[in-house]
Amino acid sequence: MPSDILKTPIEFLKGVGPQKAELLKKEVQLFTFEDLLHFYPFRYIDKSRFYKIREITEDMPYVQIRGAISNIQLHGQKRTTRMTALLSDDQGSSLELIWFNGFKFLKNLFVPGQEYIVFGKPTRFGRKYSIAHPEVEVVSPAAITQQSTMHPVYSSTEKLKSRTLDSKGISRLLSTLLPQVKNYINETLPEYLREELKLPTLRQSLVNVHFPESSQSLARARARLKFEELFYIQLGLLRLKHVRIAESRGQIFKTVGEHFNEFYHQHLSFELTGAQKRVIKEIRTNTLSGKQMNRLLQGDVGSGKTIVALMTMLIAIDNGFQACLMAPTEVLANQHFESLSSMLKGMHLKTDLLTGSTRKAKRRIIHQELIDGSLNILIGTHALIEDTVIFKNLGMVVIDEQHRFGVAQRARLWKKNQISPHVLVMTATPIPRTLAMTLYGDLDISVIDELPPGRKPIKTLHQYDSNRLKVFGFMREQIQQGRQVYVVYPIINESETLDLKDLHDGYESIVREFPLPDYAVSIVHGKMKPADKDYEMQRFVKGETQIMVATTVIEVGINVPNASVMVIESAQRFGLSQLHQLRGRVGRGADQSWCILMTDFKLSSDARKRIETMVSTNDGFLIAETDMKLRGPGDIHGTQQSGLLDLKIASITKDEKILKYARKKAEEILEKDPELRLPENQVLSHTMQQKHKGSITWSKIS
Ligand code: ADP
Ligand code: MG
Repeated sequence: MPSDILKTPIEFLKGVGPQKAELLKKEVQLFTFEDLLHFYPFRYIDKSRFYKIREITEDMPYVQIRGAISNIQLHGQKRTTRMTALLSDDQGSSLELIWFNGFKFLKNLFVPGQEYIVFGKPTRFGRKYSIAHPEVEVVSPAAITQQSTMHPVYSSTEKLKSRTLDSKGISRLLSTLLPQVKNYINETLPEYLREELKLPTLRQSLVNVHFPESSQSLARARARLKFEELFYIQLGLLRLKHVRIAESRGQIFKTVGEHFNEFYHQHLSFELTGAQKRVIKEIRTNTLSGKQMNRLLQGDVGSGKTIVALMTMLIAIDNGFQACLMAPTEVLANQHFESLSSMLKGMHLKTDLLTGSTRKAKRRIIHQELIDGSLNILIGTHALIEDTVIFKNLGMVVIDEQHRFGVAQRARLWKKNQISPHVLVMTATPIPRTLAMTLYGDLDISVIDELPPGRKPIKTLHQYDSNRLKVFGFMREQIQQGRQVYVVYPIINESETLDLKDLHDGYESIVREFPLPDYAVSIVHGKMKPADKDYEMQRFVKGETQIMVATTVIEVGINVPNASVMVIESAQRFGLSQLHQLRGRVGRGADQSWCILMTDFKLSSDARKRIETMVSTNDGFLIAETDMKLRGPGDIHGTQQSGLLDLKIASITKDEKILKYARKKAEEILEKDPELRLPENQVLSHTMQQKHKGSITWSKIS
């Protein structure tokens, strides 16, 4: 019984009862004593220090002041609407205290000459500060010691507040709960680990996180809880990886044969970069091991992932298997189909394309050729994972994920073979290391961290709209040198006519500025018919037009090495990774390329930071890190769906050190004791079972 006390329904806590329990469940998902115990304050108010009124600044969330209260006044004509008083400190400064209710009770409470401790949020009116509804307490030795700690603030909701469960109310519940359950809080980290890392016990930590003894003990408590949270996620992911590798048989690609060699020696027009070679070797080792490969291939735009994917598919084919490549959109699938077909031209391989718009008759042929094995490579959208698509012997799946995590998850449905095919997921946008560690923690990761040689780094400039003529002049110069130019407009929502108007207005002013017959301008946006869009894109690709005015549809769809300028209009409206992706459309040839970010003068501080980041670096990983810091990890790569980032206390962005440590420790432990069978690790396997009961299946992708 005693250890089960933590599972007691919350309504049995003194002061809760059925109605409040209902609210606690609905509003903040607290069902049991244990849930309440792990409902951590989201911040703390430091009451360890007293401020002088003169020190107050506008950005202080709270201040605590000692002083005398005088000049109590009631305001209002018929009814009292507010009460004010003057708080003066020992330096002779004063500020106003204001109450909008509760006057009757308060009015006679203050004794002139008595010293009080006043606590609240300062607001500025002109040059004076005031505090509305301050907490006021008489200075006494007890008050001072009691005040001298960090006070927890819990998140609450309007409904909870109306039932006395505001932050203080929740703290009261915890002060009832903790003495009852304290002795039944079992340790969840092995002692050797706690000692090595000098972490307090779980019991000490929970007590201190709710009722800090000092700011130091609070910091230690929080560090321990953060470590624990991240550690168990990593342990879970790494266990999963171990199990997957141990259990899942993989096709063995014994030979590197005729197709790979033919391509390498006769078709590849350039030398692979060191990074590309290394990654191919990693894949090669993996596909020889007899274990199924689940690998994430990270590399910046233009780093040459496609070649790596193609050569990987050729290895599969050389070993008698089929391969497929899945892209997130039709545009991208088309582009892959075209570029792979042209790279494979002259080789005796059959490649085809399957998307939502593939005709029925064609579809039937593809299905047939897949089953009889005559089709070697199938490229497509997630039309590929429909039940009707059956391969004779699929050996390699490449997923060009283009930061759509959902695709990878859906690929779990891949049960096309007795033995699962190897899986390579390519991500176009670099993912910050810490995020990758968590989101893809159970995958193997390969990184192409080197661009093909001879690329000149793209130069990025920020220009205000008022300098537009200068920008036009620059475009003209580049076009005279035979180059082509993109001008991109943000379309936040393709259905918004206002946005389209921006695009059309922009198009018209550019046509005016760059008239026929010297210039030709293309326009492309998502509302166009695919055929028209394609026609316009082809004109630009063939060099028949010099300027491409477009929305972000070109972000993924186009590769024109002759284009050397990317002008991004209203650049402040784009996210960092989008800007980086757009910039990646230029710099694909041998010429110096430029990216020009146009904005008006007014920029939010985040927007300014984004622009500055773009101007200062071409490093996709650095940009991804900054992006994550600005937006928070939850907004990146559709990570919301993953569930892995629902952290209670740790933060992927702020607790990078702890995360790395947690991963390292989890790796070390599993290295020594993969099944967690050692007596000292019993607590780990037990806690894992508890924590992961019925929860996330992580990012297992096949
Ligand atoms: P990613 O998919 O990583 O953005 P791609 O595979 O599309 O990059 O490659 C970008 C361009 O660089 C392509 O035109 C490709 O042919 C070229 N490329 C790839 N690898 C090399 C290399 N080692 N040397 C020279 N050019 C390369
Ligand atoms: Mg690519």
